[in-house]
Amino acid sequence: MKPFTRKQFLKRSIVLASTLFLLGGEWNLFAKGTKEEKMTEPPDGLKPVSENDPTAQALGFHQDAKNTDYNLYPERKHPKAKSQVCLQCAQFTKLNEGWGKCSILPNGVVATKGWCSAFAKKM
Ligand code: SF4
Repeated sequence: MKPFTRKQFLKRSIVLASTLFLLGGEWNLFAKGTKEEKMTEPPDGLKPVSENDPTAQALGFHQDAKNTDYNLYPERKHPKAKSQVCLQCAQFTKLNEGWGKCSILPNGVVATKGWCSAFAKKM
């Protein structure tokens, strides 16, 4: 078998790296449209915390962490930040599969996939 030339090696490396980038990470082409999560209903009588609530706004809160303003919170782009959602936060008390109470935003319930800048990982 003939060994690769440097040029062939570089070409194949670039193609492989590009393919892996597109298949994984933020641009996961195969996951889009197939992994659409359905939001469960909040527990009876409880309303979701409004994202327009002054405290929620000050903390950059969104019921879906994907809607975070990445200009204000660029650290949210880091792959490790994906697991930083309300469900994993020390301030969160789970009520059902999709919702729970946040001790910092008490006026309603927050989604398990929410996030705000006061996030602190559960121990
Ligand atoms: S403090 Fe924690 S539980 Fe409350 S909104 Fe922020 S990330 Fe979610």
